[in-house]
Order: sequence, then C-alpha cells, then structure tokens
Amino acid sequence: MKKLLNYIDGELVPPINKLYLENLSPTNGEVYSLVPDSNSQDVKLAMGAARKAFKNWSEQKKEYRYNWMMKLAKAIDEHSKKLIIAESYDNGKPEWLAEQVDIPRCSANIRFFATAMLHFDSKCYDMGNDGLNYTLKHPIGVAGCISPWNLPLYLLTWKIAPAIATGNTVVAKPSEITPYTAYLFSEICKKINFPKGVINIVHGKGVSAGAAVVEYADVVSFTGGTETGKVVATSAAKEFKKCSLELGGKNPTVVFSDCNFNSTIDVAVKSAFLNQGQICLCGSRLFIEKKIYSKFKSAFLKKLKNLRVGDPKNPKNNLGAIVSYDHLEKIISIIELAKKDGGKVLFGGKRLFLKKTLKQGYYLSPTVIEGLSYKHIVNQEEIFGPVVTLIPFEGEKDLIKMCNSTKYGLSASVFSENISKAHRVAAKIDAGLVWINTWLLRDLRVPFGGVKQSGLGREGGFYSLDFFTESKNACVKIEN
Ligand code: NDP
Repeated sequence: MKKLLNYIDGELVPPINKLYLENLSPTNGEVYSLVPDSNSQDVKLAMGAARKAFKNWSEQKKEYRYNWMMKLAKAIDEHSKKLIIAESYDNGKPEWLAEQVDIPRCSANIRFFATAMLHFDSKCYDMGNDGLNYTLKHPIGVAGCISPWNLPLYLLTWKIAPAIATGNTVVAKPSEITPYTAYLFSEICKKINFPKGVINIVHGKGVSAGAAVVEYADVVSFTGGTETGKVVATSAAKEFKKCSLELGGKNPTVVFSDCNFNSTIDVAVKSAFLNQGQICLCGSRLFIEKKIYSKFKSAFLKKLKNLRVGDPKNPKNNLGAIVSYDHLEKIISIIELAKKDGGKVLFGGKRLFLKKTLKQGYYLSPTVIEGLSYKHIVNQEEIFGPVVTLIPFEGEKDLIKMCNSTKYGLSASVFSENISKAHRVAAKIDAGLVWINTWLLRDLRVPFGGVKQSGLGREGGFYSLDFFTESKNACVKIEN
C-alpha cells in the first residue's frame, strides 16, 4: 500500500509518530493509499523549515521568485496526465473535469500570481511642499494554507502561489480526504529542487495538523466550511493574525421570465450539478418567476434525463462519485428530511449502485426537490451535493427577501434579458460575487469571497497579494 509522505524542508518524510490514515477512492470505496496522520510535532518541524527559508526567499528579487514559480508551473504541466488521473480517483470527479478545470488551473494559478507580483506596485501620497508618503509592501512570514476536498490541488495552489510570490514561505495542509495530488505536487517540487523550506506540506486531520498550522503560522488562508471557519477565526484572533476565510454558500440562481430560455436551462443545470454539486459557487436554490415556473421546470427535468452519472473515467459521464461515504450519507439524510417535511422529489434522490469494480462507489443521482418553504432548513443550510430546490417567486421584492434569507452570501446568478432589472437585482442580493446571464465565468483578477457567514476578506489578483503582505507607510518631511 502506497504511503504518502509529508514534504518538509525539501524532503519527503514520514510523520514523526509513524501513524497513518486510510485514503480511499470514492469511485469504488477501496482503500488505496495511506496518508500521514501528522500532529503538531510535524507542523512545528515544517514551521521551523519555513522560518529558516523565509529570510533568503523574501529578500530575493521578485524575478528570482518569478523564475522558480514559472519552473514549477511548467513541471506541473509536464505531469498533468498523472495529476488528472489521481485527482479524479481521489475525489471521484470525472476525469474530463480534472483535465479541463482542476489541473490546468494549478499551473495557471502559479503563473498568474508569479506574473501579478511583477506588476504589484505601491502607492505614493504627495503632501505638496510638506512631505511625501510612500508605502512599502512587506511579506509577513510563514503563511498557513488550509484547503478543502472539492477542488483539492486547484485551491491549494490558489493559496500557495500568492503567498510565495509575495515572499512568504508556506506550511500547507490539504484535506485528509483528498491528499493525493498535494503529495504528487510535493514530489514535483522535490524533483525540480524548488528552494528548500519555501513550500512545506503536512498531511493530517484538521483538528490536529490543521489546528497546529493555524496556531503557529503568521498569516492564515483558509477555505472550508463555515463551522470550521469559526474555529479557525477564533484561534487566529487570539494573536490578531491576518486571516482570510472562504466559507460555505447557499447560492441562489434567479430565473426571470424574460431570460434567454434555452441557454438559462443549460447554465442552471451546470450550476447545480457540476463536480456533483460540490463547488462552493454551485447554485443550489433555483428561484423561478411564477409565469414560467411550469415550463422551466419541465425543460429543466427533461435536460436532467440526459445527464449521466457513472465511471469518472468515461468522458461521456457528466457526474462522478460523491467524495466520501459520510458525505453521501449526509446528503441522503437531507433528501429524506425534505421528503418528510412535504418536499416533492421531482428527480433522483437515490444512491446509485454501479456494476462490477465500481459497485461499492458513492454515486448519487442528481436530485431536484420542490414544495419547501424558502425558510425550510433544506433551503437554508448548505448541502454541498447534487441537490437543487425549485422555488417560485413573484416580483423583485419577494425574490430579494427569499434570496437574502440565509446566513450565507457567497455568490448568485441572475438570468434576464432586461439588463436594468438584472443590475438592480444583482446589486440587492447579499453576495460577494454575482453573475448575470452566466455562471462561473472566472477572471482571476477580480475580488473573490463572500459576505455574511460565507467568509471574510477577498482573494484573487492584487487582493491576494495585499492579503499576504503588510503595508508600511514611510513619511518624508521636505525641508523648504
Ligand atoms: P472543512 O471545513 O471540513 O475542512 C476544510 C479544511 O480545514 C480541511 O483541510 C480540514 O481538514 C481542515 N480543518 C478541519 N478542522 C480544522 C481545524 N480545527 N483547524 C484547522 N483546519 C481544520 O470543509 P470541507 O473539506 O468539508 O470542504 C467543504 C466546504 O468548503 C464547504 O462548506 C464549501 O462551501 C467550502 N468551500 C468554500 C469555498 C469558497 O471559496 N468560499 C471553495 C470551496 C469549498 P480535514 O479534511 O482533515 O478535516
């Protein structure tokens, strides 16, 4: 059985306590590797390596860091086939999705932030004859980067790249549920002799390894669930550490009767079910204007009949497996709760058992539910699976009230050919990101993050570079 290793000070090393956790593939339910069950001792070791490396890495010219990052991005591309297969097997997502989205985004993240750093400037505040202020942007120290299982290497590199581009060093903890590509990434770093101690990866459970990363790091970037985010924020607050939190969502997709009907159906289906609905930005509450509710519902359900759930290796399958048995059970229990409280399952709602080698895999049909109040828990709490609820609305006021009724505020999509109306509604929805007539059209420069309990701070472009630096103002008096 393959034993994954931590990556500390440029070396691949076992956990100090020699303890491992089983890592299984959701595609077939089989244990196929062992992941270090690291604790605070391993994290301390990694922190020491990162602190030692900080001086040299942070004092180097930007171009030095740029060159190393470009070399790393190139090496990721050279190993992309292996990474694609591993990400799909570890997470359950279709291979075509890992090939089109996850793995290309890893090298893209690194190139994007390496380049952005070359263009990152600081401000000057001119006081006329009295003086001049200029701001310096200093790296902070060791960045703790903690990421979830839904986009494993994509989100890990989204954090590591801006942290190291700005001159920080990193101790990262991937999700213990999907550790494999982070391990392959550390093998790649070692292979190209990436400067020792700049990137360190410690595997293990959130409550032990993750908590220690938050405790010892100088700055923390966390993506995960809202409840975990509260624990992370509480720990970071004790020492007033800068902390970026990208948390859960319960995102509305709003369909007005004057939308472009066919393209809206396509995007609404994608938004609900891409990556088995396990993207923080997925639209899980579908608000449909009453006038077209029946027509839209029929067309939406018709479209679902063509969606195929199955072997993630088969490019014809749209959905793969749910990430873990526990998560599958959680999703099914929510569907059962919806039924008990009068929700009508219009489509799916059941675990699917595939044949032969995949028969123990965690597959679930895309699921559509109607008939629940917008206040019902199913419409209030994040499910993070292939489940969407349909809710009719009449009038903008009614719509906004329902959209904004949850504790979350990550993203939203609004579909209408009336651009003034779309702008008006987009402005009123509680969300950090709103798409109009599209979904998941991403530009890496824009501010990314949520309001309310969907997070704190913004990532992306210069927002990330700002986060991983401290601004220092220098004021010079001008003698006249
Ligand atoms: P979790 O919050 O369970 O875990 C996220 C990460 O935090 C994992 O690496 C986890 O480790 C670690 N962790 C757990 N407990 C602690 C702790 N006490 N201290 C430090 N780290 C800890 O989230 P999931 O992995 O289940 O991911 C799904 C969630 O992520 C969803 O809510 C989703 O909305 C959100 N998400 C948000 C995004 C955004 O940009 N806003 C993007 C993607 C996902 P371990 O797995 O080992 O427990």
